[in-house]
Amino acid sequence: MPASSLDQLVSLCKRRGFIFPGSAIYGGLANTWDYGPLGVELKNRVKREWWKAFVFKRQDMVGLDSSILMNPKVWEASGHVGSFSDLMSTCKYCKRLIRMDHWDELMNASPWFHSLQNLYSRKKSVSLEDLGLWGQKEGKKLAPNLAVVRNPSVTLSWLSEFLEKAEQVAPDAPIKSSMRELVKYLASEQLGMTGLRLPCPYCGGELTDPKPFNLLFKTYQGVLEGEGTEIYLRPETAQGIFVNFKNVLDTMRMRLPFGVAQVGKAFRNEITPGNFTFRTREFEQMEIEYFVKPGNEASAFEGWKEEVWNWFIALGVDPSRLRMREHTKEELAFYSSRTMDIEYQFPWGWGELFGLANRGDYDLQQHEIFSGQDLKYTDPDDPTKKFLPYVVEPSFGCDRSVLTFLIEAYTEETLPNGESRTVMKFDKRLAPYDLAILPLSKKEHLIAKAQELYKKIVQETDLVCDFDVTGSIGKRYRRQDEIGTPRAVTVDFGTLGEDEKQGTKDTVTIRDRDSLKQERLPISELLGKLK
Ligand code: ATP
Repeated sequence: MPASSLDQLVSLCKRRGFIFPGSAIYGGLANTWDYGPLGVELKNRVKREWWKAFVFKRQDMVGLDSSILMNPKVWEASGHVGSFSDLMSTCKYCKRLIRMDHWDELMNASPWFHSLQNLYSRKKSVSLEDLGLWGQKEGKKLAPNLAVVRNPSVTLSWLSEFLEKAEQVAPDAPIKSSMRELVKYLASEQLGMTGLRLPCPYCGGELTDPKPFNLLFKTYQGVLEGEGTEIYLRPETAQGIFVNFKNVLDTMRMRLPFGVAQVGKAFRNEITPGNFTFRTREFEQMEIEYFVKPGNEASAFEGWKEEVWNWFIALGVDPSRLRMREHTKEELAFYSSRTMDIEYQFPWGWGELFGLANRGDYDLQQHEIFSGQDLKYTDPDDPTKKFLPYVVEPSFGCDRSVLTFLIEAYTEETLPNGESRTVMKFDKRLAPYDLAILPLSKKEHLIAKAQELYKKIVQETDLVCDFDVTGSIGKRYRRQDEIGTPRAVTVDFGTLGEDEKQGTKDTVTIRDRDSLKQERLPISELLGKLK
């Protein structure tokens, strides 16, 4: 899906009841989204498929639903209170907050940086004069707060030093090496005093020194605000699993290796939320903590990697838009020996959909220290052997998965008759409705017959049915296409035996969303076919 189509998807989601902007009647609350009647069905189905695959269809997995509010010591033990932070800078001019680990990405999308790159690809060598001119023309429009625009003479004098010693500036390199150095010079008005500064990707202004910003959401428990009552909204569901490790072990007679799965809300005071539901401050996760004997974590890691990849593919994600990305040594959390993300090619670029981490025994060890409780596992074959299991953590974003399925489903196509349509080609297991029942017209006895069929289907099967009488049949088909209903059953005059054609009594037409094939079949066979 091209970036431009994202707007169309957002608009379809709103128009058809998948996802609404939050608190809209009060002017909204930035970056909050509400799942509408169809969105909640889609999301529930994603969760159901996940639970089916990773809990019901495996003997080594059980579920859990722990609290969002937990004893604050949990977050001291997990390290979130001390270090759950991103490095942040503020633009001194436009006051935007910039998450510094996103700076490269923001620069690569920055119009003024593109314009600068163009200058370098147009010319064989770029002189000081060229840069000055660029500053007074494009720069002035696109990056009004860049030092070379506001104070060209001083900035260019610093720059001459740089150009003298610079290696060739590579224009098409992403914001790296020489290009990265160059923009620092263009942004540093008082280089002698402040040293080199990074520019704001939006307006070119100077960024402040990065400071850590804690992402934990604080709230208060009880009636008194203040010391002792401050608690946190959980930033991940994982810790609920660790603190219940012993409970699960004692009640469920689990033997290693085994895992615990949980789906639930998490909260992070994200600095740069955005891209629809991709990054929000309140979101849902689907997480697994998988406990293994120390030494078996590497093979468990490989196993999960494959399972998760296949889960996305089986539900219709095109593998050419998925990739695995191993974290580099610098990116790894100190307790993790290996982390890998599955990234999806979102309309704005690659983004993390899922993370798999090898967490060792870090979490259980921390909880032992902070709680003073023994969380060790006793080897059932040799009770003298007690140890903390190692943990492999497959962690899914639920909202990001839903967004991925929405993007994958969104299709604009031209039909053989030249008409165009928008159709959400969800996997049948994910579509909000399994079936639509459509009486051909608003004639009362047609509606009655269709209602009778609707009741029969919902009573005798688990299919979720829509019943729609509003508008022409063409319009209703178009709506069903846009909400991704795989099949539509039309009840017409033939069904009532009122057609000139003989032998159509008690038959209906069933239309396939993707092939558009229509088939006439007796109601008596319909149920069997649908089941
Ligand atoms: P990012 O680098 O995008 O901030 P992360 O590495 O911090 O993500 P994890 O802590 O690994 O994310 O969380 C597991 C999963 O939860 C992610 O793969 C993602 O799908 C989802 N997730 C994390 N933060 C958000 C958010 N703010 N909004 C929506 N989903 C999120």
